[in-house]
Amino acid sequence: KQFTDYPLSEEIVRALTSLGYEKPTEVQTKVIPVAFEKKDLVVKSQTGSGKTAAYGIPLCELVEWNENKPQALILTPTRELALQVNEDIMNIGRFKRIKATALYGRHPFYEQKAELKQRTHIAVGTPGRVFDHIQRGTLSLERIAYLVIDEADEMLNMGFIEQVQAIIQELPRNRVTMLFSATFPEDVAKLSRKYMDNPVEIEI
Ligand code: AMP
Repeated sequence: KQFTDYPLSEEIVRALTSLGYEKPTEVQTKVIPVAFEKKDLVVKSQTGSGKTAAYGIPLCELVEWNENKPQALILTPTRELALQVNEDIMNIGRFKRIKATALYGRHPFYEQKAELKQRTHIAVGTPGRVFDHIQRGTLSLERIAYLVIDEADEMLNMGFIEQVQAIIQELPRNRVTMLFSATFPEDVAKLSRKYMDNPVEIEI
């Protein structure tokens, strides 16, 4: 399999080449085609497998550059992962001029608020701070068409279940949801049953 087997624009392919990604990893070959079909997805995979690009590549391709409001929301358990994912998305979307904004705690709210006033295609953040932005009206969810729950098991271990559910309740119903987790304890399975529509299940 090659990246050129997927419906990717020249801008995205060029970014992957400049990142030194020569061919898709296993999780990418399984996730990318399903993501382009806009089906809900539950993926069991470890970090280090290339899972960020597995959802990052289709998201960067699918979002419309011209839209002012955020179109994708990625939830992560930690600020470190939020920053890493934000950087990966910006790298993949570089030549399409995709703007991602990271939203995490222990960082001035007003700086993130100012960043969100500029065009943001993809918001990446931890549940607490994301919910804060939603409540204070600084993160618009009106146009969110894609939700990614990354490291779902870690997110629930850290006690974010209520915030994750509160965020999901605010999102448009008509969206694609992708959940990634290394393990599938009952509460992760429950989350996917409750908020996903017949998800395609992928195990690496
Ligand atoms: P992740 O599992 O998303 O944390 O990715 C693990 C590492 O693999 C990161 O350093 C990525 O930059 C790298 N990576 C992701 N996809 C590819 C690929 N197709 N080819 C080479 N490296 C990759």
